[in-house]
Amino acid sequence: MTTGFTTGRALRPTTKVLPEHARGHNRALVLQTLYRTGQLSRADIARETGLTRVTISDLVAELIAESLIIEVGQREDARPGKPATLLDLDRNAFQIVGIDLSEYATFRGAVLDLDGQILHRAELPLAGATGADASALVLTLAEQLVAQAALPILGLGVGSPGIVDLAGVVLSAPNLGWANVDLQGILAERFALPVVVANDANAAALAEHSFGGADSDMMLIKVGHGVGAALLLDGTPLYGSRFAAGEIGHVVVGTDGGAECVCGKHGCLETWLATPRLNAALADAVDEDARTQVLREAGQRLGIALAPVVGALNLAEVVLSGPTDLLDGPLASATIDTLRNRTMAEFHGDLTLRMTALGEDIVMRGAAAMVLSAQLGVS
Ligand SMILES: [Zn+2]
Repeated sequence: MTTGFTTGRALRPTTKVLPEHARGHNRALVLQTLYRTGQLSRADIARETGLTRVTISDLVAELIAESLIIEVGQREDARPGKPATLLDLDRNAFQIVGIDLSEYATFRGAVLDLDGQILHRAELPLAGATGADASALVLTLAEQLVAQAALPILGLGVGSPGIVDLAGVVLSAPNLGWANVDLQGILAERFALPVVVANDANAAALAEHSFGGADSDMMLIKVGHGVGAALLLDGTPLYGSRFAAGEIGHVVVGTDGGAECVCGKHGCLETWLATPRLNAALADAVDEDARTQVLREAGQRLGIALAPVVGALNLAEVVLSGPTDLLDGPLASATIDTLRNRTMAEFHGDLTLRMTALGEDIVMRGAAAMVLSAQLGVS
């Protein structure tokens, strides 16, 4: 049960599967049902999952023995016979450590409960650290958070910038000077805990799915120092052949040139949309109309870049994460207008575009969602 996030298993188990694969799947199905619905009787769980009463009794006994679920009392109802005993996930059995490495100047982390609520926070200034110094800072931050947890830790989740493979190796994170850093291995060895390291935008998309009410077919655009994105299709993250799915920041938008990018090309999406670029363009704007025009142009470029993706994948929702003062307003409305103008209304007319409601905590909460998925199969 430790590799749910890395085996491509659907995040939300909802149906029965073949007997030979059934046990682990059914366990996750019971946990997922209790996680989302709360207090239920064995009969309720059987009805919700479509599994037999015998199977449920068996799995419940096993999960109680492992202290993952608990009996929380009896249902008070007027029906004749013995009142049903209610069960729930033991929400006080564990806490989770979630860490966000995506910000330019600060590494941030939190201790969270199993419902993804933040209990304690910690942060360390990056102060330009790269390479081994940056790795050492991650260990220091993790140590502080592990010490703050008041309950056994279910696992440690980390959202990192850059390209991260399914074993939690950061293949490339130029801003942190990391190449082939086995961050998951380093943390697992140091703390003897289950660890999941994934790309920051992928973590953010999982947070939206688990805690933000996002659709199962969605794309999350993360705007900050750079521009990243992540895709969930049918509730399952899309990683791509080289783990770089969603890396649209260095896709050139348009054929009209544009500013030079750090990657050497001109007119990459990042040159229109990354926070430092937008702030610089806004600083040069002479009046409010010019400011609005800068934001509309950035929104149009984002819409141009997203339209083929939305069209090809028939997405239901695009979620923006980043500075609200820049993204929410002329920029977002220009993006949705551009998307609507460039896709087929009958299939994409009901596409929604919105800001995340999870604010700055999105990556930390996503890191917690990765741990829940990997360890318990719930989301
Ligand atoms: Zn570029």
